[in-house]
Amino acid sequence: MLQKKWTESKQAARQAMIDCGYWSNQQQMGRRWAIGCVALEITQRCNLDCTLCYLSEHSEAVADIPIEEVFRRIDEIYTLFGPNTDVQVTGGDPTLRQRDELISIISYIKQKNMRSTLMTNGIRATRSLLTDLAEAGLSDVVFHVDTTQNIKHATDEKSLNKTRLKYLNNTRGLDLSVMFNTTVHQGNFHEIPGLVKFFKSQSNSIRTVSFQSQADTGRGVADKRDEIITQDTVWKKIEEGLETELNHNAIIAGHKHCNRYGMSLITNDAAYDLFSESGFISELHAKTSHITLDRKHKWKTAKEIIYWNLSNPAYLLAVSRWALRFLKRTKNDLVKSKGNVSTLSFFVHNFMDACNIEQERVDACVFNTMTKDGPVSMCLHNAKRDEFILQAIPVKHEEKIKFWHPLEAKFYEKKPEILKENPEKYPLKKRKGKSRLCHCLDK
Ligand code: SF4
Repeated sequence: MLQKKWTESKQAARQAMIDCGYWSNQQQMGRRWAIGCVALEITQRCNLDCTLCYLSEHSEAVADIPIEEVFRRIDEIYTLFGPNTDVQVTGGDPTLRQRDELISIISYIKQKNMRSTLMTNGIRATRSLLTDLAEAGLSDVVFHVDTTQNIKHATDEKSLNKTRLKYLNNTRGLDLSVMFNTTVHQGNFHEIPGLVKFFKSQSNSIRTVSFQSQADTGRGVADKRDEIITQDTVWKKIEEGLETELNHNAIIAGHKHCNRYGMSLITNDAAYDLFSESGFISELHAKTSHITLDRKHKWKTAKEIIYWNLSNPAYLLAVSRWALRFLKRTKNDLVKSKGNVSTLSFFVHNFMDACNIEQERVDACVFNTMTKDGPVSMCLHNAKRDEFILQAIPVKHEEKIKFWHPLEAKFYEKKPEILKENPEKYPLKKRKGKSRLCHCLDK
Protein backbone atom coordinates (compact mmCIF):
# COMPACT_ATOMS: atom_id res chain seq x y z
CA MET A 1 0.00 0.00 0.00
CA LEU A 2 2.73 2.43 1.04
CA GLN A 3 4.90 1.32 -1.87
CA LYS A 4 2.02 2.22 -4.19
CA LYS A 5 1.73 5.68 -2.61
CA TRP A 6 5.48 6.31 -3.02
CA THR A 7 5.34 5.24 -6.65
CA GLU A 8 2.39 7.59 -7.22
CA SER A 9 4.30 10.47 -5.58
CA LYS A 10 7.27 9.86 -7.86
CA GLN A 11 5.01 9.69 -10.90
CA ALA A 12 3.31 12.95 -9.88
CA ALA A 13 6.74 14.57 -9.47
CA ARG A 14 7.77 13.29 -12.90
CA GLN A 15 4.55 14.66 -14.41
CA ALA A 16 5.26 18.06 -12.82
CA MET A 17 8.68 18.04 -14.51
CA ILE A 18 7.14 17.05 -17.87
CA ASP A 19 4.59 19.86 -17.49
CA CYS A 20 7.23 22.52 -16.87
CA GLY A 21 9.47 21.21 -19.65
CA TYR A 22 12.34 19.99 -17.48
CA TRP A 23 12.00 16.23 -17.75
CA SER A 24 15.23 14.77 -19.12
CA ASN A 25 18.07 12.39 -18.21
CA GLN A 26 19.50 15.22 -16.08
CA GLN A 27 16.43 15.53 -13.86
CA GLN A 28 16.54 14.14 -10.30
CA MET A 29 12.96 15.02 -9.35
CA GLY A 30 10.60 12.18 -10.22
CA ARG A 31 13.57 9.90 -10.96
CA ARG A 32 15.92 9.73 -7.99
CA TRP A 33 13.31 11.06 -5.57
CA ALA A 34 9.74 12.30 -5.32
CA ILE A 35 10.81 15.40 -3.41
CA GLY A 36 14.18 17.12 -2.84
CA CYS A 37 13.51 17.68 0.83
CA VAL A 38 10.74 18.52 3.26
CA ALA A 39 11.26 21.19 5.91
CA LEU A 40 9.91 20.27 9.31
CA GLU A 41 9.61 23.49 11.31
CA ILE A 42 9.78 22.46 14.96
CA THR A 43 9.85 26.01 16.33
CA GLN A 44 9.17 29.48 14.97
CA ARG A 45 11.58 31.10 17.43
CA CYS A 46 15.10 32.25 16.64
CA ASN A 47 18.03 33.69 18.59
CA LEU A 48 19.04 35.94 15.69
CA ASP A 49 17.30 38.63 13.69
CA CYS A 50 18.74 38.39 10.17
CA THR A 51 18.18 41.27 7.80
CA LEU A 52 16.81 38.76 5.27
CA CYS A 53 14.86 36.48 7.60
CA TYR A 54 12.07 34.39 6.05
CA LEU A 55 10.07 34.18 9.30
CA SER A 56 7.06 36.48 9.82
CA GLU A 57 6.58 39.23 12.37
CA HIS A 58 4.28 36.85 14.27
CA SER A 59 6.75 33.99 14.48
CA GLU A 60 8.23 34.93 17.87
CA ALA A 61 4.74 34.93 19.41
CA VAL A 62 4.02 31.37 18.30
CA ALA A 63 4.77 28.56 20.73
CA ASP A 64 6.49 25.37 19.59
CA ILE A 65 3.98 22.94 18.07
CA PRO A 66 3.26 19.91 20.31
CA ILE A 67 5.64 16.98 19.95
CA GLU A 68 2.71 14.69 19.02
CA GLU A 69 2.07 16.94 15.99
CA VAL A 70 5.77 16.86 15.03
CA PHE A 71 5.70 13.05 15.06
CA ARG A 72 2.44 13.01 13.08
CA ARG A 73 4.03 15.25 10.43
CA ILE A 74 7.06 12.90 10.23
CA ASP A 75 4.67 9.98 9.73
CA GLU A 76 2.93 11.88 6.95
CA ILE A 77 6.21 12.71 5.20
CA TYR A 78 7.07 9.01 5.28
CA THR A 79 3.64 7.98 4.02
CA LEU A 80 3.84 10.44 1.13
CA PHE A 81 7.47 10.13 0.05
CA GLY A 82 8.92 6.99 1.63
CA PRO A 83 12.31 5.89 2.98
CA ASN A 84 15.46 7.97 2.34
CA THR A 85 13.44 11.20 2.10
CA ASP A 86 15.45 14.20 3.30
CA VAL A 87 13.78 15.87 6.26
CA GLN A 88 15.18 19.28 7.17
CA VAL A 89 14.67 19.86 10.88
CA THR A 90 14.37 23.60 10.97
CA GLY A 91 12.58 26.59 12.41
CA GLY A 92 13.38 29.37 13.48
CA ASP A 93 16.43 27.72 14.94
CA PRO A 94 15.64 24.10 15.86
CA THR A 95 18.22 24.10 18.66
CA LEU A 96 15.85 26.36 20.63
CA ARG A 97 13.49 23.43 21.00
CA GLN A 98 13.90 21.44 24.24
CA ARG A 99 17.00 19.27 23.89
CA ASP A 100 15.31 15.95 24.73
CA GLU A 101 12.52 16.70 22.24
CA LEU A 102 15.02 17.60 19.49
CA ILE A 103 16.88 14.33 20.09
CA SER A 104 13.66 12.31 19.99
CA ILE A 105 12.64 14.02 16.71
CA ILE A 106 15.95 13.08 15.06
CA SER A 107 15.70 9.58 16.43
CA TYR A 108 12.14 9.17 15.11
CA ILE A 109 13.17 10.28 11.61
CA LYS A 110 15.97 7.71 11.71
CA GLN A 111 13.54 5.05 12.91
CA LYS A 112 11.46 5.79 9.80
CA ASN A 113 14.55 5.18 7.67
CA MET A 114 14.59 8.79 6.43
CA ARG A 115 17.53 11.24 6.54
CA SER A 116 17.49 14.18 8.90
CA THR A 117 19.30 17.48 8.46
CA LEU A 118 19.71 20.03 11.25
CA MET A 119 19.39 23.56 9.82
CA THR A 120 20.99 25.89 12.34
CA ASN A 121 22.76 29.21 12.73
CA GLY A 122 25.23 27.22 14.85
CA ILE A 123 25.08 29.36 18.01
CA ARG A 124 23.57 26.61 20.18
CA ALA A 125 24.84 23.66 18.14
CA THR A 126 27.50 22.75 20.68
CA ARG A 127 29.83 19.78 20.38
CA SER A 128 27.84 18.03 23.09
CA LEU A 129 24.48 18.57 21.34
CA LEU A 130 25.87 17.51 17.95
CA THR A 131 27.36 14.38 19.53
CA ASP A 132 23.97 13.43 20.97
CA LEU A 133 22.20 14.18 17.71
CA ALA A 134 24.73 12.18 15.66
CA GLU A 135 24.18 9.25 18.02
CA ALA A 136 20.42 9.66 17.58
CA GLY A 137 20.90 9.28 13.81
CA LEU A 138 21.32 12.82 12.45
CA SER A 139 22.65 12.64 8.87
CA ASP A 140 23.61 16.22 8.02
CA VAL A 141 24.15 19.53 9.72
CA VAL A 142 23.78 22.77 7.79
CA PHE A 143 25.27 25.93 9.26
CA HIS A 144 23.86 29.22 8.10
CA VAL A 145 26.52 31.86 8.69
CA ASP A 146 26.70 35.18 6.85
CA THR A 147 26.66 38.95 7.08
CA THR A 148 22.85 39.15 7.17
CA GLN A 149 23.07 37.98 10.79
CA ASN A 150 24.50 41.18 12.28
CA ILE A 151 27.00 39.19 14.32
CA LYS A 152 29.18 41.47 16.42
CA HIS A 153 32.56 42.41 14.90
CA ALA A 154 31.61 40.71 11.61
CA THR A 155 32.08 43.44 9.07
CA ASP A 156 32.39 41.13 6.08
CA GLU A 157 32.20 37.44 5.14
CA LYS A 158 35.94 36.97 5.60
CA SER A 159 35.72 37.98 9.24
CA LEU A 160 33.10 35.24 9.74
CA ASN A 161 35.47 32.45 8.69
CA LYS A 162 36.60 32.14 12.31
CA THR A 163 33.00 31.40 13.30
CA ARG A 164 32.64 28.94 10.43
CA LEU A 165 35.79 27.13 11.55
CA LYS A 166 34.56 27.01 15.14
CA TYR A 167 31.31 25.35 14.02
CA LEU A 168 33.18 22.99 11.73
CA ASN A 169 35.41 21.98 14.65
CA ASN A 170 32.28 21.07 16.62
CA THR A 171 31.55 18.39 14.01
CA ARG A 172 35.05 16.89 13.69
CA GLY A 173 35.11 13.12 14.13
CA LEU A 174 31.32 12.88 14.27
CA ASP A 175 29.43 10.79 11.76
CA LEU A 176 27.84 13.82 10.09
CA SER A 177 28.00 15.40 6.67
CA VAL A 178 28.45 19.17 6.84
CA MET A 179 27.08 21.93 4.66
CA PHE A 180 27.24 25.73 4.81
CA ASN A 181 24.51 28.14 3.67
CA THR A 182 25.15 31.73 2.63
CA THR A 183 22.50 34.27 1.70
CA VAL A 184 23.73 36.34 -1.23
CA HIS A 185 22.98 40.05 -1.05
CA GLN A 186 24.42 43.22 -2.50
CA GLY A 187 26.86 43.57 0.42
CA ASN A 188 28.54 40.17 0.04
CA PHE A 189 28.10 39.36 -3.66
CA HIS A 190 31.70 40.41 -4.43
CA GLU A 191 32.94 38.15 -1.60
CA ILE A 192 31.63 34.89 -3.11
CA PRO A 193 34.99 33.95 -4.71
CA GLY A 194 36.81 34.45 -1.39
CA LEU A 195 34.20 32.37 0.41
CA VAL A 196 34.50 29.60 -2.16
CA LYS A 197 38.27 29.56 -1.64
CA PHE A 198 37.70 29.22 2.11
CA PHE A 199 35.24 26.33 1.65
CA LYS A 200 37.62 24.71 -0.81
CA SER A 201 40.39 24.84 1.79
CA GLN A 202 38.08 22.91 4.15
CA SER A 203 36.74 20.48 1.57
CA ASN A 204 37.95 17.46 3.53
CA SER A 205 35.27 18.30 6.11
CA ILE A 206 32.55 20.06 4.09
CA ARG A 207 30.31 18.25 1.63
CA THR A 208 28.15 20.99 0.13
CA VAL A 209 28.03 24.76 -0.06
CA SER A 210 24.77 26.50 -0.85
CA PHE A 211 24.31 30.09 -1.97
CA GLN A 212 20.78 31.39 -1.63
CA SER A 213 19.94 34.61 -3.39
CA GLN A 214 18.18 37.26 -1.34
CA ALA A 215 14.39 37.12 -1.62
CA ASP A 216 11.85 39.75 -0.64
CA THR A 217 9.88 37.60 1.78
CA GLY A 218 9.31 37.26 5.51
CA ARG A 219 10.24 39.77 8.17
CA GLY A 220 13.64 40.67 6.71
CA VAL A 221 14.21 44.40 6.48
CA ALA A 222 16.76 44.49 3.66
CA ASP A 223 15.81 46.07 0.34
CA LYS A 224 14.96 44.24 -2.85
CA ARG A 225 17.57 42.06 -4.53
CA ASP A 226 20.09 44.01 -6.54
CA GLU A 227 19.95 43.39 -10.28
CA ILE A 228 23.53 42.22 -10.22
CA ILE A 229 22.46 39.05 -8.32
CA THR A 230 21.19 36.41 -10.74
CA GLN A 231 21.67 32.65 -11.00
CA ASP A 232 24.23 33.26 -13.75
CA THR A 233 26.27 35.89 -11.91
CA VAL A 234 26.34 33.91 -8.64
CA TRP A 235 27.47 30.80 -10.52
CA LYS A 236 30.20 32.82 -12.29
CA LYS A 237 31.45 34.05 -8.90
CA ILE A 238 31.61 30.44 -7.65
CA GLU A 239 33.65 29.50 -10.72
CA GLU A 240 35.91 32.50 -10.08
CA GLY A 241 36.62 31.20 -6.57
CA LEU A 242 37.21 27.66 -7.81
CA GLU A 243 39.34 28.86 -10.72
CA THR A 244 37.57 26.44 -12.99
CA GLU A 245 34.30 26.20 -14.88
CA LEU A 246 31.60 24.13 -13.20
CA ASN A 247 28.87 22.53 -15.31
CA HIS A 248 25.38 22.97 -13.81
CA ASN A 249 23.52 21.34 -16.69
CA ALA A 250 24.57 17.71 -16.22
CA ILE A 251 22.29 17.07 -13.22
CA ILE A 252 19.33 19.26 -12.35
CA ALA A 253 16.88 19.45 -9.46
CA GLY A 254 13.38 20.62 -10.35
CA HIS A 255 12.77 23.91 -12.15
CA LYS A 256 15.81 25.56 -13.72
CA HIS A 257 14.82 28.99 -12.42
CA CYS A 258 14.91 27.60 -8.87
CA ASN A 259 18.07 25.52 -8.55
CA ARG A 260 21.56 24.96 -9.89
CA TYR A 261 23.85 22.15 -8.90
CA GLY A 262 27.44 21.21 -9.69
CA MET A 263 30.16 19.05 -8.18
CA SER A 264 33.91 19.53 -8.02
CA LEU A 265 36.77 17.28 -7.09
CA ILE A 266 39.43 18.96 -4.96
CA THR A 267 43.00 17.74 -4.87
CA ASN A 268 46.20 19.62 -4.04
CA ASP A 269 43.99 22.72 -3.54
CA ALA A 270 42.94 22.62 -7.20
CA ALA A 271 39.32 22.16 -8.26
CA TYR A 272 38.15 20.00 -11.17
CA ASP A 273 34.66 19.85 -12.61
CA LEU A 274 33.31 16.33 -12.11
CA PHE A 275 30.38 16.98 -14.47
CA SER A 276 32.29 18.50 -17.36
CA GLU A 277 31.17 15.74 -19.73
CA SER A 278 27.48 16.56 -19.62
CA GLY A 279 26.04 13.88 -21.89
CA PHE A 280 27.93 11.03 -20.25
CA ILE A 281 27.18 12.19 -16.67
CA SER A 282 23.47 12.69 -17.41
CA GLU A 283 23.15 9.25 -18.92
CA LEU A 284 25.01 7.64 -16.02
CA HIS A 285 22.78 9.57 -13.61
CA ALA A 286 19.63 8.31 -15.30
CA LYS A 287 20.89 4.70 -15.33
CA THR A 288 21.94 4.70 -11.66
CA SER A 289 19.06 6.66 -10.14
CA HIS A 290 17.87 3.55 -8.28
CA ILE A 291 21.07 3.64 -6.16
CA THR A 292 20.67 5.39 -2.82
CA LEU A 293 23.30 8.07 -2.46
CA ASP A 294 24.78 7.92 1.03
CA ARG A 295 26.07 11.44 1.60
CA LYS A 296 27.80 10.59 4.85
CA HIS A 297 29.74 7.75 3.34
CA LYS A 298 30.86 8.75 -0.14
CA TRP A 299 32.99 5.66 -0.62
CA LYS A 300 29.99 3.46 0.10
CA THR A 301 28.12 5.20 -2.71
CA ALA A 302 31.18 4.94 -4.98
CA LYS A 303 31.38 1.21 -4.20
CA GLU A 304 27.72 0.72 -5.11
CA ILE A 305 28.24 2.53 -8.40
CA ILE A 306 31.32 0.40 -9.13
CA TYR A 307 29.31 -2.74 -8.31
CA TRP A 308 26.50 -1.59 -10.62
CA ASN A 309 29.09 -0.94 -13.29
CA LEU A 310 30.58 -4.40 -12.98
CA SER A 311 27.17 -5.97 -13.34
CA ASN A 312 26.41 -3.78 -16.40
CA PRO A 313 29.30 -4.55 -18.77
CA ALA A 314 27.76 -2.37 -21.48
CA TYR A 315 28.72 0.64 -19.40
CA LEU A 316 31.99 -0.71 -18.05
CA LEU A 317 33.99 0.45 -21.03
CA ALA A 318 32.38 3.91 -21.16
CA VAL A 319 32.89 4.49 -17.41
CA SER A 320 36.49 3.24 -17.55
CA ARG A 321 37.26 5.56 -20.46
CA TRP A 322 35.72 8.50 -18.61
CA ALA A 323 37.73 7.64 -15.47
CA LEU A 324 40.94 7.47 -17.52
CA ARG A 325 40.26 10.85 -19.13
CA PHE A 326 39.57 12.34 -15.71
CA LEU A 327 42.74 10.82 -14.25
CA LYS A 328 44.74 12.26 -17.14
CA ARG A 329 43.43 15.75 -16.38
CA THR A 330 44.07 15.54 -12.66
CA LYS A 331 47.17 13.33 -12.46
CA ASN A 332 49.72 16.03 -11.60
CA ASP A 333 47.71 17.35 -8.66
CA LEU A 334 46.77 13.83 -7.58
CA VAL A 335 50.44 12.90 -7.38
CA LYS A 336 51.37 16.10 -5.51
CA SER A 337 48.56 15.58 -2.99
CA LYS A 338 49.55 11.89 -2.61
CA GLY A 339 46.05 10.87 -3.59
CA ASN A 340 44.28 13.16 -1.13
CA VAL A 341 40.94 13.95 -2.80
CA SER A 342 37.60 15.26 -1.68
CA THR A 343 34.44 16.37 -3.42
CA LEU A 344 32.70 19.69 -2.90
CA SER A 345 29.21 20.30 -4.26
CA PHE A 346 27.69 23.68 -5.01
CA PHE A 347 24.07 24.64 -4.97
CA VAL A 348 22.48 27.94 -5.91
CA HIS A 349 18.93 28.36 -4.71
CA ASN A 350 16.76 31.12 -6.05
CA PHE A 351 13.82 31.69 -3.68
CA MET A 352 10.93 33.81 -4.98
CA ASP A 353 9.72 37.16 -3.65
CA ALA A 354 6.50 36.90 -1.65
CA CYS A 355 4.68 39.19 -4.07
CA ASN A 356 6.02 37.56 -7.18
CA ILE A 357 5.19 33.87 -6.84
CA GLU A 358 5.23 31.93 -10.12
CA GLN A 359 2.70 29.12 -10.16
CA GLU A 360 4.74 26.99 -12.57
CA ARG A 361 7.66 26.93 -10.12
CA VAL A 362 5.38 26.21 -7.17
CA ASP A 363 3.92 23.24 -9.07
CA ALA A 364 7.44 21.96 -9.79
CA CYS A 365 8.79 22.74 -6.31
CA VAL A 366 11.42 20.37 -4.91
CA PHE A 367 11.61 22.02 -1.46
CA ASN A 368 8.44 21.70 0.55
CA THR A 369 7.49 22.76 4.06
CA MET A 370 5.25 20.46 6.10
CA THR A 371 2.08 22.04 7.45
CA LYS A 372 -0.83 20.63 9.40
CA ASP A 373 -2.58 20.06 6.05
CA GLY A 374 0.37 18.56 4.19
CA PRO A 375 3.45 19.71 2.26
CA VAL A 376 3.52 23.15 0.62
CA SER A 377 6.16 24.81 -1.58
CA MET A 378 8.67 26.56 0.68
CA CYS A 379 8.38 29.84 -1.28
CA LEU A 380 4.61 29.82 -0.89
CA HIS A 381 4.88 28.92 2.79
CA ASN A 382 7.29 31.77 3.45
CA ALA A 383 5.04 34.20 1.58
CA LYS A 384 1.92 33.21 3.52
CA ARG A 385 3.57 32.07 6.75
CA ASP A 386 1.08 33.66 9.13
CA GLU A 387 -1.82 31.86 7.49
CA PHE A 388 -0.12 28.57 8.32
CA ILE A 389 1.36 29.19 11.76
CA LEU A 390 -1.60 31.03 13.29
CA GLN A 391 -4.10 28.23 12.89
CA ALA A 392 -5.42 26.03 15.69
CA ILE A 393 -4.01 22.52 15.25
CA PRO A 394 -6.04 19.39 15.95
CA VAL A 395 -3.82 17.06 17.98
CA LYS A 396 -4.47 13.68 19.55
CA HIS A 397 -3.81 14.56 23.16
CA GLU A 398 -4.53 12.23 26.10
CA GLU A 399 -6.45 9.89 23.75
CA LYS A 400 -8.76 12.66 22.53
CA ILE A 401 -8.60 15.09 19.63
CA LYS A 402 -8.06 18.54 21.08
CA PHE A 403 -7.19 21.88 19.50
CA TRP A 404 -3.83 23.42 20.22
CA HIS A 405 -3.73 27.21 20.36
CA PRO A 406 -0.39 28.46 18.90
CA LEU A 407 -0.46 31.82 20.69
CA GLU A 408 -1.57 30.55 24.11
CA ALA A 409 0.21 27.18 23.92
CA LYS A 410 -2.87 25.50 25.39
CA PHE A 411 -5.26 22.73 24.35
CA TYR A 412 -8.97 23.45 23.88
CA GLU A 413 -11.86 21.02 23.55
CA LYS A 414 -13.37 23.15 20.75
CA LYS A 415 -11.54 24.87 17.92
CA PRO A 416 -10.58 28.32 19.26
CA GLU A 417 -10.65 31.54 17.27
CA ILE A 418 -7.19 32.84 16.65
CA LEU A 419 -5.57 35.95 15.25
CA LYS A 420 -7.51 36.58 12.05
CA GLU A 421 -10.85 36.26 13.80
CA ASN A 422 -9.72 38.05 16.94
CA PRO A 423 -7.31 40.91 16.14
CA GLU A 424 -7.80 42.80 19.40
CA LYS A 425 -7.13 39.88 21.67
CA TYR A 426 -4.07 38.84 19.69
CA PRO A 427 -2.50 42.00 18.25
CA LEU A 428 0.49 41.75 15.93
CA LYS A 429 3.61 41.00 17.89
CA LYS A 430 6.27 42.97 16.05
CA ARG A 431 9.15 42.06 18.26
CA LYS A 432 11.43 41.73 15.29
CA GLY A 433 11.65 42.73 11.65
CA LYS A 434 9.02 44.51 9.67
CA SER A 435 5.36 44.06 8.99
CA ARG A 436 5.05 42.84 5.43
CA LEU A 437 1.52 43.33 4.21
CA CYS A 438 1.54 41.58 0.89
CA HIS A 439 -2.00 42.05 -0.36
CA CYS A 440 -1.25 40.43 -3.70
CA LEU A 441 -1.46 37.06 -1.93
CA ASP A 442 -5.01 37.69 -0.69
CA LYS A 443 -6.37 37.59 -4.23
S1 SF4 B 1 11.21 26.64 -2.57
FE1 SF4 B 1 10.79 28.14 -4.21
S2 SF4 B 1 12.73 28.42 -5.27
FE2 SF4 B 1 12.88 26.54 -4.07
S3 SF4 B 1 12.26 24.89 -5.46
FE3 SF4 B 1 10.44 25.52 -4.37
S4 SF4 B 1 9.45 27.06 -5.67
FE4 SF4 B 1 11.56 26.83 -6.38
